[in-house]
Amino acid sequence: MKTQGRRDFIKTLAAFGVSGVGISASFPTQVEAVTESIPSENLMGVLVDTTACIGCRKCEWACKRAHQMESGSIRDYNDRTVFQKPRRLDHNSLTIVNQYPDDESKPSINVKIQCMHCDYPACVSACIVGALSKKKSGAVVWDGNKCIGCRYCMVACPFQIPAFDYHKAIEPEIRKCDFCVARTSQGKLPACVSICPVEALAYGPRSELTRIARDRIKKHPDRYNSRIFGETEVGGTSWLYLSAVEFKQLGFPRLDKDPAPIISETIQHGVFKYFIPPVGLYVLLGGVMWITRDKDERRD
Ligand code: SF4
Ligand code: SF4
Ligand code: SF4
Repeated sequence: MKTQGRRDFIKTLAAFGVSGVGISASFPTQVEAVTESIPSENLMGVLVDTTACIGCRKCEWACKRAHQMESGSIRDYNDRTVFQKPRRLDHNSLTIVNQYPDDESKPSINVKIQCMHCDYPACVSACIVGALSKKKSGAVVWDGNKCIGCRYCMVACPFQIPAFDYHKAIEPEIRKCDFCVARTSQGKLPACVSICPVEALAYGPRSELTRIARDRIKKHPDRYNSRIFGETEVGGTSWLYLSAVEFKQLGFPRLDKDPAPIISETIQHGVFKYFIPPVGLYVLLGGVMWITRDKDERRD
C-alpha cells in the first residue's frame, strides 16, 4: 500500500469511484484490541516532514473538529503569537504545532506534535486496568469505560503526551491523539493529514514511510538531518519525523532504543503478583518516570 497525502488520497477515491467512504479494501477496516505490543513495520503510520510544514495550524483545527472539541473558527489559527514559546498538549488539544528558531539567520522550523503511537507503548504497559491498547491499525487508543483515572500512563509516557481532563473529576478522561480511528476505520485519512495544505504529513504503511524518508535524506542531504526520529526510539513509533536540524533542537527527547514498557510491565506484574502496597508503587513509578525521561535531563 502506498502512502497518501491529501491529494493522493483524493486520487485513490476517484480510482475507486467513491466520494468519501467505501475504499475499505485499501485501508485497515477493523480496529481490534490486542494485548501485546505490535511492531508497526507494516502497520499504518504518518511521516511528518518538518522541512515542509508551514506552521499554518490547520491540523490543530481539523483535529479538534474531528473529535467534537471546541475548535473556534479556522481563522483564529492564523494567530502567530502562540509561537512565542513551545506549548504543551492539554485536554482540549490532541495535537499542536510549535515553532523553533533554528538559527536567527534561517527561517523558523514548525513541528507538529501528538501521540507517537509507539510500537511498545509505555502507557499501555503502565495501565493496570487495560484502558489503553495498541490496535492492529497502529493506533494506541484509550477506553473511557475501563479508565480509573490513576494517571500512571501520564507518568510512564516518554513523550509526556497523555493529558488529563481535570474538568471531569467524576468521569476521569485521559486525552490524547487516537490516530483518528473513527475516520481511518471508514477508509478516511486522519483529519490532520487530510487538511494539510502542503502535504507535510503522509499517511501509509510504516515500512513505506521509512523508505520514503530514507530516499528524501539520500536525495537531499543538504536539506535533511540523516536521522529519522521514531525509527528506533523506545523500540520504534508509528509516527516518524524528518528534520533539517538535530531533533534535540526541536524539543524532541533523546531516548534509548530499548522499549520503555519492560520497566512498567515489571511494575504492573509486581503490583498484582506480590501485591505491592501503594507507597511502594509510587516509588516504582518515580523510577519509571526517571528512566523514561530525556537522557540529558536524567544526567542533569
Ligand atoms: S507517545 Fe506516550 S501516549 Fe503515545 S503511545 Fe507512546 S507512550 Fe503511549
Ligand atoms: S491523527 Fe487525528 S487525533 Fe491524531 S493528531 Fe491527527 S487529527 Fe488529531
Ligand atoms: S496543517 Fe500541515 S503545514 Fe499546516 S501546521 Fe499542520 S502539519 Fe504543518
